[in-house]
Amino acid sequence: MKILLHQCCGPCSIYPIEILLENGFDVTTYFYNPNIHPMHELYKRLNGAIDVSRYYNLKCLVSNEYGLTVFLNSEFLDSRKRCSFCYDIRIKNVAKYAAEKGYDCFSSSLLYSKYQNHEEIIKICEKYSKKYNVGFYYYDFREGWKTGIEKSKSMEIYRQQYCGCIFSETDRYDKQLSNQLINRIESDNSVEAV
Ligand code: SF4
Repeated sequence: MKILLHQCCGPCSIYPIEILLENGFDVTTYFYNPNIHPMHELYKRLNGAIDVSRYYNLKCLVSNEYGLTVFLNSEFLDSRKRCSFCYDIRIKNVAKYAAEKGYDCFSSSLLYSKYQNHEEIIKICEKYSKKYNVGFYYYDFREGWKTGIEKSKSMEIYRQQYCGCIFSETDRYDKQLSNQLINRIESDNSVEAV
């Protein structure tokens, strides 16, 4: 059975690939993530995803579409809708591509992450499976959370420090960088916060 696996990044796709191969699927990976900013980060993750696919000798499809402008529209700026919009544009693209190119089904490494909204991702996958008349293969890849992390470290695959968009980058570093600045100001009389 031919399956197109959406790769959100290299590390998250390791466990899903292993499960799919164990279950006899003919796997092709597809990196499509216009949510990843800034551009240097997109390319680091893209190369990490290729490294993983090559490790398993899989055919890998990659898109370097950089979606900063799209993501800065009003819908995305609404923090309550941001992640839904982000899942939707990625899964829609993958399901449509899978249908057009004759894959039997698709899945996503987003289903591996403990930090994503698993139930919402399932709903969106089912929606586009129906719309494009292509199968959706569901598996709760979260069971392999630790295994995937350990393997990505041993394979020396690039591991990202935040989810992807510039808002998640801010959430990740805001406190840490602000504290560093405060410490510097406190230890240097010639620097003043205004
Ligand atoms: S936090 Fe992650 S899932 Fe949510 S919008 Fe940003 S990149 Fe997408």
